[in-house]
Amino acid sequence: MAHSTELGDFSGVVALDGPSGTGKSTVARRLADRLNASYLDSGAMYRAATVAVLEAGADLADPDAIAVVVRDIDVWVSTDPQAPATALDGRSVDAEIRSAATTGAVSAVSAVPAVREKLVAQQRALIAEGPIVAEGRDIGSVVWPQAELKVYLTATEEVRARRRAGEVSGGNIAEVAADIRRRDGLDSSRAVSPLRRADGAVVVDTSELSIEQVVSLLERLARAAADTIQTVPSG
Ligand code: C5P
Repeated sequence: MAHSTELGDFSGVVALDGPSGTGKSTVARRLADRLNASYLDSGAMYRAATVAVLEAGADLADPDAIAVVVRDIDVWVSTDPQAPATALDGRSVDAEIRSAATTGAVSAVSAVPAVREKLVAQQRALIAEGPIVAEGRDIGSVVWPQAELKVYLTATEEVRARRRAGEVSGGNIAEVAADIRRRDGLDSSRAVSPLRRADGAVVVDTSELSIEQVVSLLERLARAAADTIQTVPSG
């Protein structure tokens, strides 16, 4: 039986899920770079849909109103890990998707089944072009359960709050912690595709690890997963 002694090139899909503040986005981009793969930020798509809902003035408590707005919009995300970008109906919304208003409303928008249906279909089309590192909340559980490597990133609530507060200038840790708790609670308890560890996902607690350590670990796991699949017995 032939065994390659070196870990193979990565040609598959890495599904990277977990709550906010785990370092997911940074890890996903750097990992994609290392693997020479594309990168999908599914959260950016839900955020762009939320920008449209807020601009339309739709009632966030009315799923039908949200569905009507999102039905007619065009969301685009770059899959280049070196140049992340998001557009709504052809105009850049890179700043708008990170605003406090968008962050505050995105869980309500992403819980609407029609919104998920539309964006998941788009995500699947992008992932099918692979190789790719796709990050979100339900990539391994719903969008692409057949991913060669599924990872669930976690970190203690305190560490996640500290990281997020560091991203927002003047961020207050107690306020950020409360916001994270609220958003995680909504994302984990919604009826459709709640945040959860996918079957077969490797759990990586990033509390005590640097970004570099996490990326190196995932790179090894991804290449090993690709190698397992590509190694064919030869007599
Ligand atoms: O990852 P990020 O914090 O940008 O995601 C923003 C929001 O988008 C999440 O809080 C969640 O409500 C939603 N989301 C989702 N499914 C995904 C990715 C993000 O519901 N796959």
